[in-house]
Amino acid sequence: MTPIDPHSYTDAAHPLTKHAALTISLDFESKTITGTVTLSLERAHSGEIFLDTRDLTIDGAWDSTKKGLKFVLEPADKIKGSLLRVFLENEVSDFTVAFKTSPQASALQWLEPAQTGGGKLPYMFTQCQAIHARSIFPCQDTPIARLKYSADVNIPAELSAVMSAAYIGRVPGETEARVVERFVMEQPIPPYLFALAVGDITYEEVGPRTRIYAEPSEIRVAAYEFAHTEETVKQAEALFGPYDWERFDLLVMPPSFPYGGMENPRMVFLTPTIIVGDRSGVEVVAHELAHSWTGNLISNATANDFWLNEGFTTYAERRIVEVQDGVERVGLHIGLGWQGLEEEVERFKDQPEFTKLKQNLEGVDPDEIYSKVPYEKGFQFLCHLEQKFGRPAFDEFLRKYINKFRFQSIDTETFLVFLKEQLPKVEELVDLETWIYGTGIPKDAVPPGAGILQKVLELADKFKSGVRLQPADVQGWEAQEYIVYLERLPKRLTAEEIQELDGPFHFSESKNWEIKVATLTIAAYSAYQPLFPAIEQTLHTVGRMKYLKLLYQGLLECSREGNALAKKVYEEAKNKYHPIAQVVVQGLISKYP
Ligand SMILES: [Zn+2]
Repeated sequence: MTPIDPHSYTDAAHPLTKHAALTISLDFESKTITGTVTLSLERAHSGEIFLDTRDLTIDGAWDSTKKGLKFVLEPADKIKGSLLRVFLENEVSDFTVAFKTSPQASALQWLEPAQTGGGKLPYMFTQCQAIHARSIFPCQDTPIARLKYSADVNIPAELSAVMSAAYIGRVPGETEARVVERFVMEQPIPPYLFALAVGDITYEEVGPRTRIYAEPSEIRVAAYEFAHTEETVKQAEALFGPYDWERFDLLVMPPSFPYGGMENPRMVFLTPTIIVGDRSGVEVVAHELAHSWTGNLISNATANDFWLNEGFTTYAERRIVEVQDGVERVGLHIGLGWQGLEEEVERFKDQPEFTKLKQNLEGVDPDEIYSKVPYEKGFQFLCHLEQKFGRPAFDEFLRKYINKFRFQSIDTETFLVFLKEQLPKVEELVDLETWIYGTGIPKDAVPPGAGILQKVLELADKFKSGVRLQPADVQGWEAQEYIVYLERLPKRLTAEEIQELDGPFHFSESKNWEIKVATLTIAAYSAYQPLFPAIEQTLHTVGRMKYLKLLYQGLLECSREGNALAKKVYEEAKNKYHPIAQVVVQGLISKYP
């Protein structure tokens, strides 16, 4: 047994899957999906083949001649789930497995009608990154096994389905109450980009290749917020080459969506927390769009190489934002990112492995150590390269890199070989060993801090000595300046200081979730009880993990009362969170008994 990925049972000796044909049916009553998947291998194979599963029931397996196949489902590993061994008796390149998901499937969140905007119909959505596709259907759940797919999705007739795939159409189901929606994905993707959402979903056309999808109650504001998406796609194409996925549709999710965005190809999933009516959420859209080149087109081979995905994407995102808003304003994003990186290095001071670009995550759950390191240290590394070689040369390298590895999943070492080939002086100019394999922030990384960023940071740094924001200071400020300011402040302030901070500006009531949560985070860490009700309400309203982690961590650490409140709220609110978020918050709580 030679696994090719520390988080998958996929064996080096077995052929990889090239296509998955799914026929699935959703049952909202039992919160399960039942179906079959026909896997097509890159070459005919006989003998055992290993598949990843998690919490699946396997109801049978057969080959293309309809001959029943023996299979064994091994006991579950806590991180990887259960190995499914299927025995292919004859040499075949296609075989089918019948399966049923568990109501606890880690990729799936089933929402009651009351948890949706409309309040009348249920909703279900998937989140497969990092290793959750296996909780929906048996597969070789490693980014190395890129596959195309088709799906026939049987759902209640009053609902609609969207997928990370081309929509083919809707046909009647077995009864009047059911319909089947059909999708085909012709571009090979890593399994973590498999995505499905089913609910009362409608759309508005906002561009030649973009529709905004959302629940009817959210569609108008969502379409307004993202009306200029086509411009962003064109800006990105000018930087990175043609957009390869035909459509760039956006689905605005219910508030329990655990991430800011998920770059599901053709159908990006977005948190509703970025919709504040001022179009300030475009940074997240720029990020998810950038994944169309870096991440989706070129994927990391395993979680050990995750920086190839997120580091490049953070770099590409900021190049897009730079075109839109200019160098000075992108500096605010870079400043925020740098601070985040410093905080993560502190968080992992006893586990420095997780501060490397290339990591060894054998035996580690990628969701539990999810951090900004791959994003921000990766970004810093690419900026360092750009600075050493100049932007024109680095841009040329970037385009060649994208062309060379499109629709492939590569590891860090493959990247390094290509880098040295294309930029032969790189080993003289850049300490690759330290940047890629070293821990922490390399000494030759340059902390950002010029222009507007510098002014905002200076103001924040004077807060503790009694200097408060004056109306003249904030003239012309947009949301990003306030966010940088608030995040720069010490996390623990006195009650008086919090009153002086929040009183004049009402940050804790801001419609911008970043501003609001940054303020509530300070209140949580400072055990500032007047804002506990607002914290509690936030934890009941949103399921975005970035916010949950900050607020729960602050409460758990701050005081006995805060600790008790965190546990009480979690018990009440946990069913509103996605299973991935539940595991992450439980992990935090377990550290503060
Ligand atoms: Zn990303």
